[in-house]
Parts: sequence; structure tokens; C-alpha cells
Amino acid sequence: MSPAPRWLRVLRHSRWARALTRWLGGAPPIPAGLWRHVVQAQPFLHRLEPGQLERLQLLCRHFLAQKTFSGANGLQINDEIALTIATQACLPWIHWGLTGLDWYRGFVGIVVHPDEVWAQREETDEAGVVHRWREALAGEAMQGGPLMLAWSHVRTASAKAQQGHNLVIHEFAHQIDLRHKSRHQAADGCPRLPNGFLGLAAPAAAQHWRTLWGQQHRRFVREVQMAERFGAPMPWLDAYGATDAAEFFAVACEAYTVQRARFGAEFPLLLPLLDAFFKHPAAATAAP
Ligand SMILES: [Zn+2]
Repeated sequence: MSPAPRWLRVLRHSRWARALTRWLGGAPPIPAGLWRHVVQAQPFLHRLEPGQLERLQLLCRHFLAQKTFSGANGLQINDEIALTIATQACLPWIHWGLTGLDWYRGFVGIVVHPDEVWAQREETDEAGVVHRWREALAGEAMQGGPLMLAWSHVRTASAKAQQGHNLVIHEFAHQIDLRHKSRHQAADGCPRLPNGFLGLAAPAAAQHWRTLWGQQHRRFVREVQMAERFGAPMPWLDAYGATDAAEFFAVACEAYTVQRARFGAEFPLLLPLLDAFFKHPAAATAAP
């Protein structure tokens, strides 16, 4: 395992700092210069108000204290890499406060590769024929962790935010989806909803969620098929979301977090659901 970020390591190893860390609840402060540098390097964070940035920084402090980073294929984890990933992973929870990080409790390890990695895939079809292929992965999430990310994609997140893309949020959205599922259950785009979601009892809220997401996913799959096969314009949301319900939820979370207004224009029926889920101030409190 690669060491913790340098400033965190230094803090852990000095006596006064350990006392300070205990006093702060195990989440050491982030050096101001490092914070400024990482925020400035990510233009999609510039729209945040000062109070929101403060909340994001607090989330990042706790996130970094809770997670373990390791570099793979020669990548050395440094402060900038760890904090950049933390800012993106914590961004969806700025309206929740620290309880938002409970959604990431199901795993600890984050493995960062310099670039995409090749994974061997195998699937048996209905006729019993085994298909094997190699797939380039920029990120992967699994139940219990670790979570894998390609730094080449994370550090270029700002350039992709305009299109509503964010790899880190995508992989962490899978963890949100998996959070309350058993080891044998796959992500399905239906995370456990917070109590009192949209003012509904839990079964009605879950039903409402499944119905709307199911409808919108089917519509999106049709739009992608029309674009790929019949020359219709490609929809704005990442076509990878057409893969299945879990990927649709993950690409929707990416787009919602970095381009909320555009996402809302594309999916007006899903906007209130994600607003309620992420406790955005615009969330309607009335039952649908
Ligand atoms: Zn995915």
C-alpha cells in the first residue's frame, strides 16, 4: 500500500498533531495552499458559494481520514491526487453534511492507476456459449471495495464536466447504489431511499423511484438506439447509461452533480428525485 498523503502522514506522526487530530475527531485540517490549488484546478467547483466550499472542505477532511489510498502501476499517491479525488467524491453531499459520508462506509480502499487498465471479462450466454473479451477500465466499484480509478481521467474531470461527465462521481454512485445491498446483490439503480423520501412511506417511495427511473431509462435506451442505428441526434447524457439501470443511475448522478440545470432540462422527471435524494435546497417536500 502506498503511504497516506504527505501532510496527513506528517500530522499522524507528530505528537501535538495526534492530539489535534483527536480533538478534531480524527480529521486533520487541509493546508490552505493545497486546498486553494486543488479547487482552482477544478473550474466546476468555482460555482460553489463560500459556505458550500467550507462544507466541501469539511467533508474532504473526514473522507481522507476514513479512506486509504494506494497507487498502482507505478503511480505515487500525493496530496493533490488524494484531495482531488476527495473533492469530487464528496461534492454530491454538500447539502447533507457529514452524514453523507455514511454512504461510503461499505469500503475503505481506493486504488489509483496512472491510466486505464485492461480487465479480462467472461460471460456465458443463454445458449451456454462462453464469451471472453478484454475491456479498458477507467474505474470500477465493487461491493466491499476497493474502488479503482484512473488518474488520467480524474485529473481531466474539468474538461469533461461541460458534458456532464465525472468518473469519480460515477464510481461512487455505484457505491451509493450498493451501500445497503447484500454481497450477492448487484447494483440496480435503486439505492435505499432516505426516511420520509418525498414525504412517502418507504414502500411507496421505492415504488415511485423504480417506476420513474424505469420509464426514463427505457426512453433513454430508445434515444441511444435511434442515434446509433438510425442517425437521430445522440442524446446529451452519456450513452453508456443505456447499458443497464445501474449505469443509468451512475451517469445520471455524474451529470446531476456537475451540470444540474442541464440534467434537469433533459430529465425533468428525475430532477426532483435526485434533488430529494441529495437534499438540494430546491427539493420539493410535497408528496408527488
Ligand atoms: Zn459504471
